[in-house]
Amino acid sequence: MAQGELQLSFPKILTMFADYAFTVEERFLRYVKIDTQSDPNSTAQPSTEKQKELSKLLVMELKQLGIQDAELDEWGYVYATIPSNTKKDVPAICFCAHVDTSSDSSGTNVKPIVHRKYDGKDIVLPDDNSVVITTSEHPYLKKKIGEDIITASGTTLLGADDKAGVAVIMDMVNFFSKHPQAKHGAIKVLFTPDEEIGRGVDKVNLERLGAKFGYTLDAGERGAYEDETFSADGMTVTFYGVSAHPGYAKNKLVNAIKVAAAFVEQLPKNSFSPETTDGREGFVHPVQISGVAEKATVQFIIRDFDTRKLEEYESFIKEKMEETVSLYRGSRGEVQVKMQYRNMKEVLDHYPEVSENARRAIDRAGVAVVNMSARGGTDGSRLSFMGLPTPNLFTGEMAFHGKQEYVSVQDMQKSVETIVHLAMIWEEKS
Ligand SMILES: [Zn+2]
Repeated sequence: MAQGELQLSFPKILTMFADYAFTVEERFLRYVKIDTQSDPNSTAQPSTEKQKELSKLLVMELKQLGIQDAELDEWGYVYATIPSNTKKDVPAICFCAHVDTSSDSSGTNVKPIVHRKYDGKDIVLPDDNSVVITTSEHPYLKKKIGEDIITASGTTLLGADDKAGVAVIMDMVNFFSKHPQAKHGAIKVLFTPDEEIGRGVDKVNLERLGAKFGYTLDAGERGAYEDETFSADGMTVTFYGVSAHPGYAKNKLVNAIKVAAAFVEQLPKNSFSPETTDGREGFVHPVQISGVAEKATVQFIIRDFDTRKLEEYESFIKEKMEETVSLYRGSRGEVQVKMQYRNMKEVLDHYPEVSENARRAIDRAGVAVVNMSARGGTDGSRLSFMGLPTPNLFTGEMAFHGKQEYVSVQDMQKSVETIVHLAMIWEEKS
């Protein structure tokens, strides 16, 4: 290749954002005011029609930025392409964020407040003084002194999860529209509905998206990079008793409720549970119990970073089930396992350049990489197994799903820088 005629030299890369007027804050403040809460009890797609209000606005703004193919489909997904501006053959990469907010806390009438040059004190939210964001509960805040912190007002969540990701991606589009000399391959933008209720990629059309690799913008602190999630199964344990009229039940009735209770009592109390594990430890977690004398069921979620361990946990539960029914003559039990999702690392390990480029981009933005493992699933874990390897990048969103949610403007700007660099690194390396 001719010695970088149109390429930016390295010192120029470092000053690329020196006079860039970021739009991420202004966009974020507008997007969070639109109520996009999803609803786990709805069977519609998307689960709530109101999510489309933000999606429609995003399509309009993408078109204003010159993205001609921006479109909202019938299922609530926004697809858009920033066309390649290089002669090189670069794999198309996708940046993805979700528009919905959690149903754990109200998302109606969000009033974002910008705390300029944050002073390091606890933040009391004005609409409900009992809601205080304390530095003891949120130690990350201590690193944010002097930055501009955005919070909600005390009666709602903020919705930085994931409108920070949405605003970051939109500002990246804005940057490239104003810097045609910055070279990149085709960049695909994907905004999804219903991530918070686990249906974020149910109706995604990967053929239409046409990307080779993806990145979700939905991780927290500055520099956070997640290429690993839990592997997850669901498990149902069913106990059958023998029912009889309680007035004449002597030596006949076997109560499945009591069998189930005895089984739950046998589960470990000081290990193996979400309330006693963190870091890389897995767990078995009963999430629902229901039943009558004749039949009772206990539902579990099973989690570990190592997929092989799920089977161990499942055999352990099966053993406990068998032990329990052996103590209640006439009762019997059965177990059923359902695959939920798998650790995305199993896929990402086959494409090391996806993570290498991401780490390099974070570094080029002048940020230290913070490797993290998500103790849960992301849209990316499902996308990775659907054929689109998709790790998760930081946006600055913190304390999600509650009224204490906050985000730093400067973290969001660093996230914009990171994904601009990332798109350019894919081009450089091709
Ligand atoms: Zn999220």
